[in-house]
Order: sequence, then structure tokens, then C-alpha cells
Amino acid sequence: MSKQSQASKEKSIQRTKTLFEVFLIVAVIAGGGYIIKGINQRSETVGNSTHYAPPEISDEEESATEDETPKVIYENHNVMTKDEFHGNLILVNENYHYYSGDEKLVSITEMNEQKGRTLFSAVDDETNGKMMIVDEVYEPMASMIFDFYEATQLSNIIIYGAYRSKEFQQKLYEDDLAQTGREDSTRVAKAGYSEHESGLAFDFTTYPDYDYQGTGEYAWFTQNCYRYGFIIRYPEGKESITKIQSEPWHFRYVGKPHAYYMTKKNLCLEEYIDMIIKNYYYQSDSHLKFTDDEGQSYEIYFVLADDLTEITTIPVPSGKKFEVSGTNVNGFIVTVYMDGEKSETTTEETIDEDRDNDGQTV
Ligand SMILES: [Zn+2]
Repeated sequence: MSKQSQASKEKSIQRTKTLFEVFLIVAVIAGGGYIIKGINQRSETVGNSTHYAPPEISDEEESATEDETPKVIYENHNVMTKDEFHGNLILVNENYHYYSGDEKLVSITEMNEQKGRTLFSAVDDETNGKMMIVDEVYEPMASMIFDFYEATQLSNIIIYGAYRSKEFQQKLYEDDLAQTGREDSTRVAKAGYSEHESGLAFDFTTYPDYDYQGTGEYAWFTQNCYRYGFIIRYPEGKESITKIQSEPWHFRYVGKPHAYYMTKKNLCLEEYIDMIIKNYYYQSDSHLKFTDDEGQSYEIYFVLADDLTEITTIPVPSGKKFEVSGTNVNGFIVTVYMDGEKSETTTEETIDEDRDNDGQTV
């Protein structure tokens, strides 16, 4: 290549770079505009203020005449920005430290006694105290084990790991290093980096062999856990992404829609969260939409946390039931239930009632 053409090529690269930078700046300004708009809207009632402008739906309005889908109206929902570290979709791994620590926990043994459940047990021990789990996870877990019993007549499941305090995780980590003589562990996460600390995960073992591998009749759990909102968190074949060896006994609660999608698409939690953040950003107008095998349709998208203020404003479709979960990465995932109308009456009591009708209290 001649010097001249080399120079002109460099110039053209420079020009492209500059153009790209200009594009970036415009994008940043536009993004900043959105955040500022969010701040203005924060404490205002929708439709009641002269400052109010609908959040970023102008593109949809324009295209609404072309495609036949009815226009979705978004309204603002405020959450505490610090809740980006809370919720059933938080990603906890060697890169994402677990911050929270104010989980609402229940004792599995006490819950079993209270509900008269005898199909499974939990190991309470002197070091770690009672085996605890986030209260939202107990019912789906119990329900899954009950249905497993119905399918197989086996009632020998033991929960031998669930919530762990940071101190207990540290002890397990040190014990593992002592046992293997290695400098780090692929079996036990460092304190602060185990999702057991979130109370959203639990480990199975079986009586009397204490060796749960998810094979034989127990493959039922691997195949069906998504129906209850669980994933096998460290699946075989994803070790290079999760950085944890295959653990068929370790279940993680993520909620039904997400467990369904991850299972059907063979995605581990790292891949799923990454996909939503990259492809289904709220403003991108491309949201993840799918219908599960029970006929429920969902719309899922990501909203960046507003780390500059205490409150993050999240756009949600008007009149629809929705859930917001932190990701522990840098924002929130919104899950909208597209078929049903907004329901604020889904309380624990109604869930318990359903359970009793199912004959769960065996
Ligand atoms: Zn585990």
C-alpha cells in the first residue's frame, strides 16, 4: 500500500471514528435526557402535571398505524434504586457480589411443621442454625416436591443447603481449600459471591444414600423444576460461563416466566441476564415477548437503575400485572403478565388456600 493511500485510509478511519463518537455523544445526551425526564416525572401524578410527558413512546405511536397490535400505554412506577440488588433475578457470581442482607427468611422445618408437610425435611445444624430460605421460595419448593412424590411415590428428599450467612460461606470456602490443598475453589464460592447468601437457592440430597445426582427418577426435577420457577443453576455444559462445575442438586428460584424461557432456550442465568440487558432495553422498543406452555404471555424488558438518586422511575404498561426485580448488575428487569388484568390481591393467604385444595398438606 502506498504512503498516500495509507494516509487517506487512516483519514477515512479517523472520520468514521469521529462520526461514531458524535453518534455516541448524541446517544448519551438522549439517554441523559431520558434520565432527567424521569427525575421530573418522579413525584408527579400521571396526567396531572404540566411537566408530564409520556416516557419514550413516540416511536410506537408512529408505527401504531402500520402494525395492527394495539398501542401499549406506559405509566411510571417508582422503585427504590437500592432494590437493584434485590429480587428473584439477581445475578450473583464471581463478578457480582451479593450486597443485600435483609432477606425475609423462613425456617424450612418450622414451615413444614406449620403446614403439616412430611414429604421432605431440612438439615438444621448447630453451626448454621435453622435451615432458612426466602419466604417466596418455600411454597414453590414444597409444591414441586409434593408433585414429585405424586409422580414417583418417593419422599426421601432432604434440603441440606439453603440460606447461608456470609460467615458460614467463608467457613465452607476455607474448609474446601483445606480439603483440596488448592489456592482457590471451583466447588465453593468465596464469601459474598455465593447465591446461597441470597436465600434464593437450595441444595437437594436424598436419604439414605446422600447422593443426589438428578438421575433416574430424580430426573423429574431437572425436567419439571421450571414449572415452579426454578432452574438448575449450574448446568452441565455451561461451566465455562458459570465458572462452577455441574451441580444437578443446586436449584435457584427465578420465577416461572424466566425459568421457562431459560429452560426452553438452554440459557444459564448469566446468558439470560446478559441477553435481556443487551437486546431488550426498555427504550429499544424491542421487548422480550413470549407465551409459556400454560398459555400465559409475558413482556420482559430492562430498565437502567438511576444510581444518582434514591428513586428509579420504571415505565410499566398501564393496567397490567407486573413484577420488578433487581438484577444485581446495573438495573431492573420488568416482567409484565400480558393476558391478565392487574391483580393486587395475590396474597399469601390465597396461595395457601389453593395449596390446601390441592391436598398439599399430606
Ligand atoms: Zn448449592
